[in-house]
Amino acid sequence: MVNSRKALISGISGQDGSYLAKYLLDRGYQVYGTSRDAQMSSFHNLRLLGIRDHVKLESMTLTDFRSVLQVLMNVQPDEIYNLAGQSSVSLSFQQPVETLESITIGTLNLLEAVRFINRPIRLYNASSSECFGDTQGMPADETTSFRPRSPYAVAKAAAHWEVANYREAYGLFCSSGILFNHESPLRPERFVTKKILSAACRIAGGSKEKLHLGNISIQRDWGWAPEYVVAMWMMLQQAQPEDFVIATGESHSLEEFIDTAFSALGLNWHDHVTVDPSLLRPTDLLTGRANPTKARVQLGWIAKSRMHDVVRMMLEAEQSSKK
Ligand code: NAP
Repeated sequence: MVNSRKALISGISGQDGSYLAKYLLDRGYQVYGTSRDAQMSSFHNLRLLGIRDHVKLESMTLTDFRSVLQVLMNVQPDEIYNLAGQSSVSLSFQQPVETLESITIGTLNLLEAVRFINRPIRLYNASSSECFGDTQGMPADETTSFRPRSPYAVAKAAAHWEVANYREAYGLFCSSGILFNHESPLRPERFVTKKILSAACRIAGGSKEKLHLGNISIQRDWGWAPEYVVAMWMMLQQAQPEDFVIATGESHSLEEFIDTAFSALGLNWHDHVTVDPSLLRPTDLLTGRANPTKARVQLGWIAKSRMHDVVRMMLEAEQSSKK
């Protein structure tokens, strides 16, 4: 597909950045990506997807306005996807300042740089379902109030409103995707889904270890990351910038996720999992539930893969990486 459009992805080394880069390259975009230190990063995920040499990589620190402005002026992108920042809820309780700064100041610097450059750049911002907090089982949509319950969620909520404010105040074309959890083999092991699947595979291979987990009764809406990056792109192709909830619309408990993974390997999870109170978060969300109707109706986007598919595909990838 031939396309002269330029896309800039901040956080291209991460899970979503890598899948999005692949998707945009397939659509014919020139893809630029940034990392805090492009010389030092291994860009392991880009290599795994076989696209390391197809993207142009730049160093950019989102908290440093000069660095942001310089990259935007050099690249002159048509579309920017802001996927960088501290992305772990657990880590945000240990690094609240880094989390707040990388997300809130980072997003603000991007918005200010776009405003300063004064070209019709479209900006996607990675917002999060964590902003909603615990909706007491009610499905969250784009009109649901935010009640964030972690430093990460507080930061994402602030960045979400920065984007809304710049859209209204300065007419920028910027949209936030309020994405529920989406997984893939590119998830690092500090995320619970990957931690469970990696441990389950090791145990199936003979390891005697115990898998230590925090609260396994929490419920989440888990989707497949490569599908979610398509929704990001779709948001920037709309006539008007708007925010969208992106999710499968199905929630499952972590216990169901664990059971699905261990059962697929012929194991009974009760024999291998230990609930460890030291892993409980200071505040957590019991239930994450989504209503992605707006994305279906307006974008024509619908999640094809559900929790059971996600477990199966992550297990397959885990097993084939060990061969
Ligand atoms: P990820 O794999 O952690 O990638 C984020 C990237 O941001 C990293 O590769 C890193 O790139 C950069 N980064 C990490 N810590 C940073 C910091 N302190 N300051 C500045 N940059 C930092 O995240 P992801 O899963 O792809 O998610 C992409 C975005 O969507 C994130 O903003 C995340 O919070 C958000 N989100 C994700 C989910 C999900 O389920 N995956 C759901 C909702 C929202 P370098 O090290 O190369 O600089």
